[in-house]
Amino acid sequence: MARKRLVELGDLVAKEGLIAHGRGEAFDYLLGEATCPPALEAIKAAAQTIREAKAPVISVNGNVVALAAEEIADLSKMSDAKVEINLFHRTSERVSGLFEIMKGVGIEALGEEVDDTIPGLSSERAKCCSEGIGSADVVIVPLEDGDRCQALVDMGKTVITIDLNPLSRTSQTAHITIVDELTRCLPLLIDAVRGGVDVDGFNNKENLKEVLGFISDRIKN
Ligand code: ATP
Ligand code: MG
Repeated sequence: MARKRLVELGDLVAKEGLIAHGRGEAFDYLLGEATCPPALEAIKAAAQTIREAKAPVISVNGNVVALAAEEIADLSKMSDAKVEINLFHRTSERVSGLFEIMKGVGIEALGEEVDDTIPGLSSERAKCCSEGIGSADVVIVPLEDGDRCQALVDMGKTVITIDLNPLSRTSQTAHITIVDELTRCLPLLIDAVRGGVDVDGFNNKENLKEVLGFISDRIKN
């Protein structure tokens, strides 16, 4: 179903995005296509960080908009987070097409006009908005690339990611990694932001080890 939606959007989703989706699906089989207990802990930690943020921004790419525009809109409204479109393969057609999809779910996204730069990135992905990612304290980057995740951490941002691959550079670099499928995780994250449960002592490295332990137990048993 999700795969169909990505293909339907044609050129708005980069070919690399389709390949990335396949990587995600492979990891989802290892997880049993369900939200694992460590991911539930990461969701609580992410929700707390989002609630406490002064200027949170959700950074979205073609895959995220294709799969979860409505859920991103709900999270944005629930948490007062801006949404910024940031593309690895940036063309004005793709940016404006994705902008229109977000508009259709009630979100005026940033990212059409860019006036700021993420240091340390050479490609088009370095472009960002000063009123969005440029001045954010917390950045939520689902399905992110490792280089950009590292560059955001280097800028001093608190970075939350959603990534089915617990071993990706993004998962290993972010402050909070939710190892879960995007569309399955977002309603849980929205509920957790609404619910206001606090966690103490979240450790991302330990959480990722628990995810790997969960996968290996599933495979053995
Ligand atoms: P990295 O650069 O972080 O080492 P990568 O090159 O595989 O890893 P990208 O292609 O930039 O990363 O990002 C895609 C990531 O998103 C992959 O780790 C993939 O497993 C994950 N992913 C793809 N589809 C989904 C989805 N629907 N839900 C959650 N994660 C997903
Ligand atoms: Mg990558």
